[in-house]
Amino acid sequence: MKYSPNNPILLSSSLRVDQAHEAIAGLVNEVLRESPLDAELVPLNDSLNRVLAEDLLSPIDVPSADNSAMDGYAFDGTCLKSGSGKTQLKIVGTAYAGKPFIGEIAAGECIKIMTGGLMPNTCDTVIPQELVSATEHDMIFDLSALKAGDNRRLKGEDLQRGKPAIIAGRILRPSDLGLAASLGIPNLMVKRKLRVAILSSGDELTPIGETLSEGGIYDSNRYSLTAMLNRLDLEVVDCGIVRDDPDSLRAAFCEAAKKADVLISSGGVSVGEADFTKQILQELGDVGFWKIAMRPGRPMAFGTLKAVPGKSPSHRTLFFGLPGNPVAVMVTFYQFVRSALLQLNGAKDIRPPLTQAMAEQPIRKKPGRTEFQRAILSRDPLGRPVVRITGSQGAGILRSMSEANCFVILGHDQENIAAGDWVDIALFEGLL
Ligand code: AMP
Ligand code: MG
Repeated sequence: MKYSPNNPILLSSSLRVDQAHEAIAGLVNEVLRESPLDAELVPLNDSLNRVLAEDLLSPIDVPSADNSAMDGYAFDGTCLKSGSGKTQLKIVGTAYAGKPFIGEIAAGECIKIMTGGLMPNTCDTVIPQELVSATEHDMIFDLSALKAGDNRRLKGEDLQRGKPAIIAGRILRPSDLGLAASLGIPNLMVKRKLRVAILSSGDELTPIGETLSEGGIYDSNRYSLTAMLNRLDLEVVDCGIVRDDPDSLRAAFCEAAKKADVLISSGGVSVGEADFTKQILQELGDVGFWKIAMRPGRPMAFGTLKAVPGKSPSHRTLFFGLPGNPVAVMVTFYQFVRSALLQLNGAKDIRPPLTQAMAEQPIRKKPGRTEFQRAILSRDPLGRPVVRITGSQGAGILRSMSEANCFVILGHDQENIAAGDWVDIALFEGLL
């Protein structure tokens, strides 16, 4: 579905989560086409979580030469063809990893070889040391214990020179950095960090460190948002708390749009109280207000800011107006903002992975909306993955997120869940 702030489907009473995704992805693509993100060369140790900008081609064969996969003895495997029974080979030297054997190996001879040791030209087979009986000068083994070519790693077996080792769009993980280092590559070409501005809107909000006014609450959304953005290793521009009045909102949105590629605000998008926000956003760009068929996180504004004084209109700032409720902020971020930011950053494979677990207790669910319930994944006595919903699920109850280690995601059409049913879950933590 094509994004346009006035698209009747997008404005309809409830937009499905998948339709919202489609519309967001479409607009992000447009923005990317208009102004693609630059790339920069950064040292390996600074490239974790960054997005690889171009395919990384291997400058070498890996391994660079045939070598041993085991600690054992290397010899010419032709002797194995002669059938079964025991054979004895004379040990004429040793090859260590990084210290090859130099010399000739004749028929009836072998060398001792360590894992990673270079295979001599005349040897193609390694027998592990556990399978031989050896003295200082000879070793004996059973010919039926292995085949010619066993336990040898071939040159270029992992990676061939000139072939891609890591594909562009990869969000770099520790294993990728290790892989690049194993190819001798000190720097990687990555997309520049996205600059993401955040602000909290609401007259009741108090910055931490100040005394709460009567009826006031502490602004927590900027902290959870900053932390979620830090997890993605993006540059955060904190635009603070903005009062619910048109001039402050206009000034803050303009300031943020000038500084950042993306602006994420929280609060002030529910119907009624959103009037100023709505008015200002419509002045500054194309922003639609959506009611999404999801829980929590129903109201959300989305679009671009472009009519910002002092900023070129061809560089649009992507805008997400998240609801104010702290849990809804985290859920909408997880569900929509995260993947949009990764897409804008050039990443492929941007949707968080799902897995499944068995519901430990019944879960009430109305069809017609996607629900993100906070839950704890564990194992039952039989070792099966089971998931239990955390206490109260109100959209304002941040403790439900803090205690949980995953979301249970119940699809749009899904109905009540019985204990023992398998449900989709998304873990909060990645491992490697
Ligand atoms: P709103 O979307 O502005 O109607 O806000 C919904 C609820 O979330 C209200 O109870 C707000 O007080 C609360 N809220 C809004 N912004 C924040 C914030 N930055 N930190 C914590 N709670 C907030
Ligand atoms: Mg508000």
